[in-house]
Amino acid sequence: MNAKSGGFSASVNAMYDRAVGLMDLSPGLVEKIRVCNATYTVRFGVRLRGSIHTFTGYRSVHSEHMEPVKGGIRYSLAVHQDEVEALAALMTYKCALVETPFGGSKGGLCIDPTAWDAHELELITRRFAYELIKRDLINPAQNVPAPDMGTGEREMAWMADQYKRMKTTDINGNACVTGKPPHAGGIAGRVEATGRGVQYALQEFFRHPEDVKIAGLDGSLEGKRVIVQGLGNVGFHAAHFLSTEDGAKVTAVIERDGAVTNDAGLDVEALQAHIRRTGGVKNFASGHYVEDGASVMEMDCDILIPAALEGVIHEGNAARIRAPLIIEAANGPVTSEANEILIDKGCVIIPDLYANAGGVTVSYFEWVKNLSHIRFGRMQRRAEEARHHVLVNELERLSKSKEVAWTLSDGFKRDYLRGAGELELVRSGL
Ligand code: GLU
Repeated sequence: MNAKSGGFSASVNAMYDRAVGLMDLSPGLVEKIRVCNATYTVRFGVRLRGSIHTFTGYRSVHSEHMEPVKGGIRYSLAVHQDEVEALAALMTYKCALVETPFGGSKGGLCIDPTAWDAHELELITRRFAYELIKRDLINPAQNVPAPDMGTGEREMAWMADQYKRMKTTDINGNACVTGKPPHAGGIAGRVEATGRGVQYALQEFFRHPEDVKIAGLDGSLEGKRVIVQGLGNVGFHAAHFLSTEDGAKVTAVIERDGAVTNDAGLDVEALQAHIRRTGGVKNFASGHYVEDGASVMEMDCDILIPAALEGVIHEGNAARIRAPLIIEAANGPVTSEANEILIDKGCVIIPDLYANAGGVTVSYFEWVKNLSHIRFGRMQRRAEEARHHVLVNELERLSKSKEVAWTLSDGFKRDYLRGAGELELVRSGL
């Protein structure tokens, strides 16, 4: 990872400098926005398997121009300070772009989540959350984490529960993290949201023929050959929606242990099931296995979706990338140097800030739902019930015979009343 070896932050800052160069901001303000306000490092011990293990975690706050600050918590052995700071900066810009009223933050725990069982992970997560909660680094009004690489609904539920145990009088406790399971204060659709956003960004792109032409492509998403790097939550959902709803063909998937290709299009669900079962893409029956996964990113295709780590498209491989269109489903998968090389070649890049903002957008709705204490759909249901009631009364009145109306089955009444021109139908029918 580099922006002339300055790391991920330097790469993000180089792109930021290019963007602010097009704006009329005072140099002082440019610098103030660029810097990361604070990064907290926590080290804590957890007794596991008979001895104490020490873990290191981070929560970086890039900008508190709006609070709470927002951004995921990542579990990976590669987590380090520069990474969380760069990711926190991306959250600030992403939230600004999609107008979610949040500042930017990001967290990480240096851990291989596959090395621990569920019970151990719960102990570690609760202890990490405890360290963050007591410093107000998890708090519905100040800092609201969410899932990221290596974490999901389960970890968010543990964190929210930990918060509520420690802050028993906070009526807004559920809003301290987003990405919780729906039964624990989450919101339907949050898991798929980032991948869904990638699909929407591509659909939107293909609605503009002049942009599609700039990428050297034509037509719609139908039949487009897609390479997906990383079949995690984001990559899987993007690949799933694009192949099942838009007619795109996923011709290759790159994972940790290599890649699998199929010119006719891979069955993404079956491949995900295979990865879950075996831990990798190797031996997937309906595809061709390639050990050198990175080389598959350079294969011929129409759309390349890097959906895993930052910096996978860099100075060293950018010139060999053949995809005319890249959509950054991950955060920062194209370094600033690679960006230059690709743009010079005429490649179109749909940037991460926009492409993967579906996650934080739905997180916003979850947070609002938690703060309002109203289940989504409840008001609407109440309104529908009230309307239904009025219409049933009207039906009875018009029929002049209560028996006629009440002998209609409930289901029939519901369907009948929901139909177009409800009252008119009622009037003319009876
Ligand atoms: N980790 C996700 C991201 O990078 C989601 C952040 C959120 O929902 O707060 O955008």
